[in-house]
Amino acid sequence: MLSCKQATELMSHEQDRTLALSERIGLRLHLWICAGCANYRRQIGVLRSACRRFGSGGTP
Ligand SMILES: [Zn+2]
Repeated sequence: MLSCKQATELMSHEQDRTLALSERIGLRLHLWICAGCANYRRQIGVLRSACRRFGSGGTP
């Protein structure tokens, strides 16, 4: 089982590269049982999509 530290590391790698299948499974399992990391992942997901929207050239 991943620790929270390992899970957050994987979540940040996930932004830059495709995770290996074993990493994805480990992360999925961790997020399933760990509300703190699930919240964290939701937050970085929101931030990331906000950045994408902002960067995609639409006028605000
Ligand atoms: Zn966790």
